[in-house]
Formats: sequence, C-alpha cells, structure tokens
Amino acid sequence: MRMRPRLDCLLTGILGATLCSVLPAFSARAAEKIKKVLVVGIDGCRPDALQKAKATNLAALAQSGAFSYTAQNLPLRLVDAETSSGPSWASLLSGVFPDKHGWLDDVRRKRFNGQYPHFFARLKTHDPNLSTASIITWPDLQRITTGAEINEFVKKDQAAVERGIELLTKQNPDALFIHLDSVDAAGHGKGFSPDVPEYLAAIEEMDLRVGQIVAAVRARPDHARENWLILVSTDHGGAGGGHNSHQNVVPEIRKIFYIASGDSTEPGEIKGQVYGVDVAATALAHLGVKLDPAWKLDGVPAGLKAFPPPAVSRPAEPAATVLIRRPK
Ligand SMILES: [Zn+2]
Repeated sequence: MRMRPRLDCLLTGILGATLCSVLPAFSARAAEKIKKVLVVGIDGCRPDALQKAKATNLAALAQSGAFSYTAQNLPLRLVDAETSSGPSWASLLSGVFPDKHGWLDDVRRKRFNGQYPHFFARLKTHDPNLSTASIITWPDLQRITTGAEINEFVKKDQAAVERGIELLTKQNPDALFIHLDSVDAAGHGKGFSPDVPEYLAAIEEMDLRVGQIVAAVRARPDHARENWLILVSTDHGGAGGGHNSHQNVVPEIRKIFYIASGDSTEPGEIKGQVYGVDVAATALAHLGVKLDPAWKLDGVPAGLKAFPPPAVSRPAEPAATVLIRRPK
C-alpha cells in the first residue's frame, strides 16, 4: 500500500497532471496529497461590488470551486451584534459568533475570550508539527492569532502579499492567513457601493494581489504533491461610508461572499446558507481535523465534496440574543 502513492507521484511527474486526472486509477490520488489551506481575507468587500468589478482572479477561483455571494456574517438572532472588523474576523477565524468568542465591538469591549480559539490553535492541538502563519494589515487581529509560528503585522496590502509569497516560496506553511485592508479603506473613504468607481477600483487592485498569491501557491516546487484549499472571504460589507448598524440589520452590511477553490471542493454555488464562521470549520475539515461537537462551533464545512449539504447540519439556532446593552 505504501508504494502506491509514490508510484502515482512519479507517474504524475512523467505524464502530467492533465493525463492523470482522466485515468480512474489515479482518482484517489488527491486524497493522498498533503493538504494545505490558504485563507485570504478581504476586509469590507461587498459581494455585489465584487461581482460588478473586473475581478478576474477571484471570478476564476469561484468558477472552478464552490462559492456563495449571499453568505452572512451574522445570524439574524444576533440582531444587535456589531458588524465591525474585530468581531467579524474573530468569527471567521474561530468558527463561532461573537456571543461565544466575546469580541463584541471595536470600541469598548475588545475581548477575545480565547475559549473558542483561532482555528490555528485547534490545528496545532491536532498535530503540533503543522506550520501556521498569519500576515495581517490591522494589528488588532494579532490578539486572536493563537498558536501560529508566524504572527506578523505589516502596514500595506502589497507588503502583506509579498511576505505571503515569500512564505509560500521559501517556507512550508500548512495553513496561511493573509488579511488585506485597502478595499475597506476605499469604502470608508469613498463609499461602500457597486456604484462607486473608487471602491470598484480598489477591489480590482486587490484582485490582482490575490492573483499574485494564487500564482505563488501554484508555483511551489511540491505543488503537484499538495492539495491546497484556497478560501477567500470578507468580514462585512458596507453602506454609505461605514459598516456598523447599531440595533439594526442592514443587508448590504451583513451580506458577504465566500469562495472555496481546490480539488477538495464541490464546484458550483453552495446550497444552503453560508456564514463567515464556516471559514474556520472548512479549513479544519480540509486539513483532516475532526470537528468535535464539544467545541460548539457555529461554522460547518461549506463547499467541500466530503461534506455535501445533507451531511452538513448546523447547530440549532438559539433564541434571539442581545449582546450589547447601549444607553438610549
Ligand atoms: Zn472590516
């Protein structure tokens, strides 16, 4: 049994991946590859604007993989939860909503309680030898990145991309998170809207950066022996010049996109409601981590062949929860 993967790898090199992919004998080969995850977080990117922009790299990832342009960053029961960056990224990366992870807003209560850790921490518990890295452009996110060998803040998106490419080229990360902020900045400066040219231009510039990162993944010397899952999502949308709606539910703010690309994905639009918290659950599932019900994750694997919609059951929604009591 142990010889077969090595023979397959050898033949893949000789015959090329295209020929191998049409031979049924090699259909199990993907499962034998080394599984890895890249998560690209695009801050403040509305799905309708993303679809309107000439974002060809992200469109290609969606077209070849699983996607939802109607995902949500919060469930309706958390009617008063803040749609700011800290709580939202904490949700994507921990797999639970703010009522569990505790980071409720970016002004008064920046407390990530650690009871529901970053998915990197669960990955390291699963296998301490796996390598994790986080490159972020907003320093507050460093506080939630537990368990990573590399947990770096850089000021500019292009610097984050270059550092990410350096890691992909010279090192061997098993899970890599890259956070890009300039789309959110354009939204705050000019307006979060598909009708704002500057916002669309920022998305298109970001898309080129995503293309550079994806090219670096595919250029890895061992890429033929690796099974990368590339997840791209956003923390929130926006309306006007912002993305917080106290005691309110604004669809343009809560709606987000979710793209999963790679051999493990079931191509096409994902059936059922996708949430931002599914990012962490999907990354862990792809990497072979059994999702323990005791973790009480709100996220479920989304868009993976091994977890088709009937097999994916999201925990029942509790009753409406008020997180933040504000003075009237
Ligand atoms: Zn944000």
